[in-house]
Amino acid sequence: LLQLSAPLNMLGMMYREVKQAFTNLERLFGLLDERQDVQDRAGAVALQASTPRVAFEHVDFSYDARRQILRDVSFTIAPGGTVAVVGHSGSGKSTLARLLYRFYDVDDGRIAITDAAGDTRDVRDYAQASVRSAIAIVPQDTVLFNDSIYYNILYGRPGASGAEVEQAARAAHIHDLIVSLPDGYESQVGERGLKLSGGEKQRVAIARALLKNPAILIFDEATSALDSRSERSIQAELDRIAIGRTTLVIAHRLSTVMDADEILVMDSGRIVERGTHARLLALSGHYAQMWQLQQQEQREAVAIEAAAES
Ligand code: ADP
Ligand code: MG
Repeated sequence: LLQLSAPLNMLGMMYREVKQAFTNLERLFGLLDERQDVQDRAGAVALQASTPRVAFEHVDFSYDARRQILRDVSFTIAPGGTVAVVGHSGSGKSTLARLLYRFYDVDDGRIAITDAAGDTRDVRDYAQASVRSAIAIVPQDTVLFNDSIYYNILYGRPGASGAEVEQAARAAHIHDLIVSLPDGYESQVGERGLKLSGGEKQRVAIARALLKNPAILIFDEATSALDSRSERSIQAELDRIAIGRTTLVIAHRLSTVMDADEILVMDSGRIVERGTHARLLALSGHYAQMWQLQQQEQREAVAIEAAAES
């Protein structure tokens, strides 16, 4: 019995590991109840992306035929430019990221990507794997695998060398912390390992994204789980890695999107206001109202943090 139970325990452990890895992957994109996978069209071409242009053109989308989520959404991210999306929770912001990454296909309209040769194609005409390898997503809550911190960064591009992993960690300002740990890059993290702070986990996510060296970056509320000090320092990293890349920023805090080329305000799946920060403030509409409110909240948060420290 003893002889048998050891391998059975091993199998049980392996099963849990594998299941955990898939659960982590799915949670990474909040897709636990995902619809069937999209398929490549016959003759789909590989996307050669270097500073691509991305355009949503009259996009309609629903997860479920009974409830339309996106309605006639159009916007363009210039090559190397940044478009920001703000709006209430549930307004459809993350759905834009899921469609661009092609977890789902649009119901109407299209998402077009202009490649390195200047050819513009529907995202459905590119091989899905090539689209996904051109995009990195820094999510709100980074899920770490129950594995070494090295593996957790390597996950950004599994073929990368040790030197490249370290370079990405340095650029994300997490290398010094890693080497100060007793097991260095081999330190175990995740639910059963070392607990990293929110800011540290976001730096691992940034290192992952940098290792992938993507042409298209998506930040989906990448700093909204952080306190205001970590947020400021992570925001500085995000601004830096977005330079020269075509970037979609989904933001909770408006202070993080002031410099975007265009800001879209979403409400119930529609773009209800759009423009630069200055133009939107001058409109005195939804955006201006959200801005006033957040400025007030920010002042209160800073006062609370200062009081806690004194
Ligand atoms: P946001 O990121 O702005 O908070 P989302 O794009 O995640 O909003 O979601 C938009 C709407 O779509 C919400 O009402 C949400 O409940 C719904 N939704 C999101 N994912 C799914 C899904 N997989 N199946 C059905 N409805 C979904
Ligand atoms: Mg969201």
